[in-house]
Order: sequence, then C-alpha cells, then structure tokens
Amino acid sequence: MKNITILGAGLVGSLLATLLARRGNRVQVIEKRPDLRVKSWHDGRSINLAMSERGWQAMRLVGVEEAVKQFAIPMHGRMIHDPHGKLAFQPYGDEGQCIYSVSRSLLNQTLITEAARHGVQFLFEHKCTAIDLQTNVLEIEAPIQPPPKGEERPHPSPPQGEGEKSPLLRRGLGEAGGPDLLFGSDGAFSSVRLAMMKRPRFDYSQDYIDHGYKELTIPATPGGDWAIEPNALHIWPRGHFMLIALPNPDKTFTCTLFFPWSGSPSFDEIQTPAQLTDFFAKTFPDILPLMPNLADEYFRNPTSALLTVRCYPWTYQDKAALIGDAAHAIVPFFGQGMNCGFEDCTVLDGIIGQHPEGDWQAILRAYEQARKPNADAIAELALQNFVEMRDKVADPKFLLRKKIDAHLFHQHPDRWVPLYTLISFTATPYAEALAIGKRQDAILDTIMALPDIENCWETMDYEPYISGQRSEVRGQNV
Ligand SMILES: Cc1cc2nc3c(=O)[nH]c(=O)nc-3n(C[C@H](O)[C@H](O)[C@H](O)COP(=O)(O)OP(=O)(O)OC[C@H]3O[C@@H](n4cnc5c(N)ncnc54)[C@H](O)[C@@H]3O)c2cc1C
Repeated sequence: MKNITILGAGLVGSLLATLLARRGNRVQVIEKRPDLRVKSWHDGRSINLAMSERGWQAMRLVGVEEAVKQFAIPMHGRMIHDPHGKLAFQPYGDEGQCIYSVSRSLLNQTLITEAARHGVQFLFEHKCTAIDLQTNVLEIEAPIQPPPKGEERPHPSPPQGEGEKSPLLRRGLGEAGGPDLLFGSDGAFSSVRLAMMKRPRFDYSQDYIDHGYKELTIPATPGGDWAIEPNALHIWPRGHFMLIALPNPDKTFTCTLFFPWSGSPSFDEIQTPAQLTDFFAKTFPDILPLMPNLADEYFRNPTSALLTVRCYPWTYQDKAALIGDAAHAIVPFFGQGMNCGFEDCTVLDGIIGQHPEGDWQAILRAYEQARKPNADAIAELALQNFVEMRDKVADPKFLLRKKIDAHLFHQHPDRWVPLYTLISFTATPYAEALAIGKRQDAILDTIMALPDIENCWETMDYEPYISGQRSEVRGQNV
C-alpha cells in the first residue's frame, strides 16, 4: 500500500483517485477550487463535453456508467447550419452509434462522490504553490478557517483582506504519514510539470492556435422546450471560424464560438453590441433570434485561449507522474481531451494490475511509454479536425468523400473503418488510428480523383483500391 497524493480534483484526478484507492492505496487529493458538491463554480471552460467510447470504458471500470448516463444526452451526428439557415444532418456512425453531451460539473461531482465512497480524502481550497521533486516537499496554501468559537487566531496574524491565506503549510512526501507518490492531474498549466521542467532533459513545448473561444447560451423556449434538435452536435461552419452547440439536460444549449483573436472578423474587431448583432445577423442568421442574451453573455463571458502542450518524460523515478491535461493538453476539436485523460487512467490501472509486486518505477515507465505516442497522435488529429469542422463539413466534395468512407465501411467492415469511428467508437490506440486514417486518406484521394466519381460511387468495385489494407481492426465497435 502506498500513500498517494493526487494534485487536482478535476475530471482525471477524481477518476484516478477511485482507481488507486480500489487497489488498496491511501489516497489524498488536493484541489485549489471549492468542493463542487457543495459550491458550484465555473472556470470559463466548456460547461459540457462530448463523451465517447474511451470515456465510457473508464466509467464502466469504476462502475458509474449508469449514473453518468442519467445526465448524458446522446448526439447521433453533426447538424450543419449553412449561412442561410438550411440544415443538413451528418450521422457520426451507424444507427445507434452516438457520442454524448455530458455536464462537466455533474460528471466531476459523480467522480468525486465515487472516490470519497472509496475512502479518498479530499482537501479542497488548497492550492499547491511549489513542489520539490528532490526532497518530495509540496507547498500548499490553504484558506484561513475561522478559529473555533472561543479561540483566538494564532499569532503572528496572517495578512488580512482579499485573498487572505494562511502561512504556507508544508507537506512532505515520504515523511511518516505523508504520501510516497505524487500524481499531477492539475491540468494544462500543471505545477507538477513545472517542477519536472527544472529537471535535466525534460522536453516541453506549448503551442497556442490563432483562435480563442467564448461560450454563449441558447436558452430553452418560453414553453420550456429545446430551441433546436437536442440529439445532435450543431455546427455553424464558416470557413476559418465556427460556432458549435451541445445540449444540456435543462434544455439549454451551450454554444462555443471558435474565433480568431485578431483580423477580420475577430474578437478584436467586435467591440460593441451593435457590431455583434450585425455580425451574427449576417453570419448566423438562424441562431440570432434564439439568443436573447447574446450581447450580455458575449461581453461578460471570458475569451479563452487554446493550446497544445507536449512534454516528456511524464514521470520522475518512482515518485511522480503526470496524467490528463498536465501531460498532454490538446485543442478540443476531436472532443477527446477528457476521453484521452480517462484512457490514461484505464491504461495505468491495467499496468498496475500487471505489477502485483508494486514496482512503481516499472509501472510509471510502462505507463508513459504506452501513452505518449497515443497522446501525440490525438494532439495531431485534434488540430486537423478543426479544419474539417469549420470548413470542410460544408463542402460537397468532402461530403461525397464521407459517403464513400461510410460505404466502404459497410461493404468491408473488417478491412475499412472510418477514422472518426476508430477514435470515437472504438478503443483502437490513437497512434494506430492515425496511421490507419492516413492510409485510408491516401486511398480516398485516389478514389476522389476518378472521373465521374459523383455518379458511380455507389456501384464501383473498390477491391483494387482497398486490397492491401489491414485485415483486422483492433478495439470494439459499440
Ligand atoms: C472549450 C473546451 C471544450 C472541450 N471539450 C471537450 C470534449 O467535448 N470532450 C473531451 O473529451 N474533452 C474536451 N475538452 C478537454 C477537457 O476539458 C480536458 O481534457 C479535461 O478537463 C482534462 O481534465 P484534467 O483533470 O486533466 O484537467 P482539468 O480539468 O484542468 O483539472 C485540473 C484540476 O487541477 C486543479 N489545479 C490546478 N492547479 C492546481 C494547484 N496548483 N493546486 C491545486 N489544484 C490545482 C484545477 O483547479 C482543476 O480542478 C475541452 C476543453 C476545452 C477547453
């Protein structure tokens, strides 16, 4: 049994806590935010997320699939809104195959509750300010608790006023009663990663894209119903930018505008409510009447940046490891950041199971070697998918290509599986899916260049094109 500290009670940290506790470890989670179960907060990041097969596998592993399904809304495909308000539905897969819109807050609460049920101790409103991996000391800031009735504050008095904090509490990893192992599930700007960066030969890069994002809302109709089709992920593709909308259980939709920071049009350019309304009327005419609070929300809600973080190694000796966004933050365009972080946990749990002797150095090494190539692959795919979502989904050539892709899948399911299906509906390792996708893309390029393909695609013999493809696809279709 190990004493383990997990830094960050976000989606990944709270899932990991259950898995580690179930394996007999003593687990403590330190989180700078308040406990979501008693005090709701929103940090400006997506209110809801798309959960797909890899996420569900993790939910099944910890036994919360049914609980999460209670508030998960199936989305069977993309609903494309053209600039004239015309709709086109593009299914994600076969009938019954769907991804789910899940509330970030409810999911996080469910995972925290499950971890607490397994005896995990949570310390909320405790912020880690420094980590020394050599001495295994964490520095933590905690809020001042009001002194118990009849007692005075300790002296000397801490500073008063805004952000009033106690003097730093020092927690030693490895000291009697303290943790032996530290997991950094503390997100894209991880403190654990920062500590690792001070070690020699730690590779690190962060790349921002030229687009930021802002969240907006489509409320329920005055009659309390959905304003647009609930069982779809809505996209308003507009070339180099886009708006998307995912449904919420209260019949609202959370929309996200992915928009350039500067240039025309851009966040920089839209400065007044009149400019905003004018822009929406021209660009998203069908949605403007559905957003009565557009200007309020647009000028009140934060505009946030999007980045890819790559680093390696993810572990330090047998003492520390990065997981989730702390190891691999990616842009959100394949809806896989959380799913990938959950898969990190599933894979790590499997590796722990293969090491009953509890050799943590070997466990952590095997974990980072298994996950790093897959994290790199999904980072690449997520960047590519932005172009597909904001631009290609409205292009007739692209739609024909998608039809042929699906047709080949139906004709040869053992030899051809569309990339989207591999990523969202199977557990095929991301790196393998990327390689398969590249091979299939090259074949589709050849097919699309055939004369009269628009008219003969349904009756063509594709055998000469696809022969030489792999004969088996790993993972399970759901
Ligand atoms: C706009 C947007 C849309 C997205 N949509 C999807 C989607 O549809 N599907 C999907 O799979 N993924 C999606 N993602 C990605 C997903 O949000 C992340 O991959 C996921 O939240 C990562 O979880 P995590 O637990 O690793 O990190 P986080 O969720 O960032 O959690 C980190 C936690 O650590 C805490 N913390 C940080 N620093 C400290 C500290 N010093 N001390 C104590 N606590 C600390 C934070 O408060 C936080 O609670 C989206 C991301 C964005 C930005």
